[in-house]
Amino acid sequence: MNTTYTVNRSRKRKKTISLQIRNEADVIVSAPYFTPADEIRRFVEEKKSWINKTIQKQKETSLKNKAKTYETGENFLYLGRECPLEVVFEPFENAGITLRDNRFYLNAREGKDIRKYYFVSWYKSQAYDLLRRRVDIYSKRLNLSYKGIRITSAQSRWGSCSEDDRLTFSFRLIMAPPDIIDYVIVHELMHIRVKNHSPEFWQRVEAVMPEYKKHRRWLRDNRHQFIL
Ligand SMILES: [Zn+2]
Repeated sequence: MNTTYTVNRSRKRKKTISLQIRNEADVIVSAPYFTPADEIRRFVEEKKSWINKTIQKQKETSLKNKAKTYETGENFLYLGRECPLEVVFEPFENAGITLRDNRFYLNAREGKDIRKYYFVSWYKSQAYDLLRRRVDIYSKRLNLSYKGIRITSAQSRWGSCSEDDRLTFSFRLIMAPPDIIDYVIVHELMHIRVKNHSPEFWQRVEAVMPEYKKHRRWLRDNRHQFIL
C-alpha cells in the first residue's frame, strides 16, 4: 500500500525532514525547501511502519473516546455487517438482544452498563455457537483434533492454542467478516501441528488459506472497530 502525504516545504527549515500525522490519516512531511521529491518519498517509505502504527493508535484513541452509548441509531457489528440498534423497553418481555433483518433490538432499561452487558453476553453466546461449528468443520477437514473451546473477552488477542491443544477465541471475532473468522480458526488449529510462527507454520496456513496475509492485515488495521 502506498502512503499518501502532503509536503510542506519551508525556507526556514535547515536540514531535517520531519513527519506528523493529523486527523488519524493525514501524513504531513515538513522538509527544507529544496529537498528533492525522491528523497522525501524515500524518507516516507522508511517510516512506513511508524506511520501505520501511529495512525492505528490515533484511530483507537479516538474510538475509545467515542465509546458506545447504546442508544437507538448506533451501529453494531455482526459478521462484518454494520447493524443499527433500536432500543425498546418492554418490562414484561424478555430483556436482552434480538437480531432481525440486520437490525439489533435491545430490550433494556436505561443505563450504559446494563446495555453493554446484554451486548457482550449476546456476542459471547453467538461467538460460542458459531466458532464451535466452524472449528469443527475445519478440524475435520484438516484432520487436527482439539481439546475444547473457550470464549474470552480479549481486546487484541483473537485466539490462542495451548500446549495441550485447547483453543480460545475472543468473542469480538463474531463482529468480523466470516473469512476473517475462518482465518483465525485455521491459524489456531494449525498450532496443534506447529506450536510457533515458523515459516513451516505459515506455509501450512497458506496451503489452506492462500489469502491469509490479507486477513492478517485486515485484523491489524481494524482492531479499533471491535471496542465496545
Ligand atoms: Zn499464532
